[in-house]
Amino acid sequence: MDFTLSGESKMMVKAARDFAEREIEPIIPRIEEEDALPDDILQKFAKARMLGMMIPKEYGGIGSTALNVILVLEELAKPGSAAAFLVAFCNSVAETVYQWGSGDIRKRFVPPLCDGSSYPAVAFTEPGTGSDPTAIATTATPDEDYYILNGTKRFISHGHRKGYGVFYANDETGRITAFVVDKSSEGYTCSKPWALMGLAGQGLVDVFLKDVKVPKENILGEKGKGFHILLRWIAGERIQQMAFMVGMGQECLNESLKFAKERMVRGRPVTAMQGFQWMLAEMHASIEACRWWTYRVASKQDEGDDIQVDSAALKLFVVPTIQEVARKALQIHGSYGYCKDYKIERLYRTIAHAGVTAGSTEIQKTLVGSALGRS
Ligand SMILES: Cc1cc2nc3c(=O)[nH]c(=O)nc-3n(C[C@H](O)[C@H](O)[C@H](O)COP(=O)(O)OP(=O)(O)OC[C@H]3O[C@@H](n4cnc5c(N)ncnc54)[C@H](O)[C@@H]3O)c2cc1C
Repeated sequence: MDFTLSGESKMMVKAARDFAEREIEPIIPRIEEEDALPDDILQKFAKARMLGMMIPKEYGGIGSTALNVILVLEELAKPGSAAAFLVAFCNSVAETVYQWGSGDIRKRFVPPLCDGSSYPAVAFTEPGTGSDPTAIATTATPDEDYYILNGTKRFISHGHRKGYGVFYANDETGRITAFVVDKSSEGYTCSKPWALMGLAGQGLVDVFLKDVKVPKENILGEKGKGFHILLRWIAGERIQQMAFMVGMGQECLNESLKFAKERMVRGRPVTAMQGFQWMLAEMHASIEACRWWTYRVASKQDEGDDIQVDSAALKLFVVPTIQEVARKALQIHGSYGYCKDYKIERLYRTIAHAGVTAGSTEIQKTLVGSALGRS
């Protein structure tokens, strides 16, 4: 068992940390104000070699590991912005299309997800279901060389930005099939973005599919086997999401320490009071536990292990643990923590998202519990 990071990993961490400080932190007020990411951000991520990280070089990727993606995301997460989520999304969608796509699909759709010319999307949630993909109502009807997609997808991150997404629909056999959909197809329209509690710029829209023609060759994997692809994508996404939680949790601690050292209470800094020392100690221990478990599950992904149950158990632990870290951080800040002038306010709101996206906490419990029961 090796707990040391390679030289390459350390360089990537440093580059991501610098990028977050130089390119993300300064634009946060604008993103919060406009509730939109700047148009050039994806290109900047591509130039910084943060897209297609697990994709082989011949398809425009970097050929790196799941663990390195996690390390980079942990650093990018520290500003507490949706900008970093975009990187995770690009990576996980490119990986899904690469893993399940035929040679032709790989050639057509993977490079644009690596070079910053295509915004990714994944669409499974619908007005009638989020947690139960078997209840998906969007239909895909064969018509000569095409499938015709009809239905409404809800809460689709970057659904309104140009590029390619993986859409899940019920085919003529009543099973779920995954399709690569060009978001500029005729009949593809969107709502305006939902106004979210946090994650400004996430661009969460409803997508309306009205007789959208998708070439049959755009089926990802085997027809009728989309559910399996979806479960595998969510499992990888969960690990990436937990890297965000670790990064933001660490930043909660960093901000709390900074504040507590300077804030004087009865002539002494907050850090001199044992109750707050204990709080800081608990935060530190919690973050370390989350961090190393996240690294472990990412390493298992690199080893080719099945990560469905591990990633669910990880999420089950990390989400409430880091949410408690954020609560403590706000408490340490006193009323300043409740003000938008302090970073902790944004981190707190952003951290709140994780229990209800990419599989809710309850669904993780069911996944892990049923797997334990079967073992
Ligand atoms: C920031 C953000 C980004 C998102 N991005 C995307 C995206 O890009 N693409 C996409 O498709 N979706 C996306 N979503 C949607 C998200 O993944 C779903 O909303 C989520 O899966 C939960 O579905 P739901 O809201 O319909 O909840 P529901 O399924 O209606 O669940 C409601 C409650 O019931 C619980 N519950 C449901 N079923 C069970 C069960 N069997 N046992 C126990 N409890 C249960 C849930 O845990 C939850 O607490 C995003 C959401 C957010 C907030």
